Amino acid sequence: MVRGGTAADPELTMTEKDDQIPVHLRDAPLRRTPRAMPENLPPYSFFAALLAVAYAIAHVLWSLTAPPAFVRTEFLFGPVWLAALPATLATVGYSFLRAAATSVRVLAVCATGLGCVALGAYCMLLWPGLAQLLTVPFGEPISSTEIGAIVLRAIGTAAALGIATAIVPVARALRHVCVNCGRNHAAPDNEALRWGRIGGYFALASFTVRMVPAVHSWIVEGGLGDPAGFPLFIALMIAAGTLLPLALISPWGQYWPKWLGPIAGRPVPRWMLLGPGWMMSAGLGAYFGIGGLTAVALGRTGGALEILAYTGWGAGLAVACASYARRTRPVCTDHR
Ligand SMILES: [Zn+2]
Repeated sequence: MVRGGTAADPELTMTEKDDQIPVHLRDAPLRRTPRAMPENLPPYSFFAALLAVAYAIAHVLWSLTAPPAFVRTEFLFGPVWLAALPATLATVGYSFLRAAATSVRVLAVCATGLGCVALGAYCMLLWPGLAQLLTVPFGEPISSTEIGAIVLRAIGTAAALGIATAIVPVARALRHVCVNCGRNHAAPDNEALRWGRIGGYFALASFTVRMVPAVHSWIVEGGLGDPAGFPLFIALMIAAGTLLPLALISPWGQYWPKWLGPIAGRPVPRWMLLGPGWMMSAGLGAYFGIGGLTAVALGRTGGALEILAYTGWGAGLAVACASYARRTRPVCTDHR
């Protein structure tokens, strides 16, 4: 298909275009947004790449000399130079993200992504370290070695996150969607609702699996010995397992329903659902998905069904949230 008129009749194309709502030429007649290269990568990704280079060089130098005490806490992952590998992979991938050849860009996206994930995983002890920092004002002691280790891991994590932001526009261009917003402006996005529904119903089913035995025991035991405020906690929990996943995939979660009078038909503020949705899925994923499943894998199989159900609930919510976030994205400044 020829885009926006023919080269043989440029004047006609111009007048036609003047009468129309300005639409980006590359999107107009095509069902798919063509593969375009993003004009710029996020500027801070460049500083993140510099940070990653410094991080890699420092680790190589430390492996050749006697490393300072705070670096020695990394020995539990292997030799000190090991940290230079993911940082180097991420940086090399980053430098090829804007290569001319599509195949090179695909490879660069994969290498950068792998490097960032590996570097983030290597620095994962940053998060317990930050939690430890929070206890310092309450009188818990912390050594300078521990602070040094936290700073080192913070640098690695910042480099991984910063470089990862550059992957987004490049990957969008490769996927034939708008570099700025991730939409396919040439076709309506029904796909996101389809996979979002699978996530929402999966969350609902997992929640039901979790709650059936609990409800049975409440009826039999009458909730004896439960602390005050427990009914509110249970009500919130039930809402997060039923209302929330359904709202994320239903029209009434996107626009206020008819019976709400004055606000009926107006868009629901997206963070009203995305806030609790992301928080629930992150909490369930971290506590039951990582913590619980690790305990089960180590042989502590008590409550395995509940742990699996909680994990499924969190995963389903995450999928439904991603779909909802996608469908309720703010209008793209490039294409109104
Ligand atoms: Zn867009």
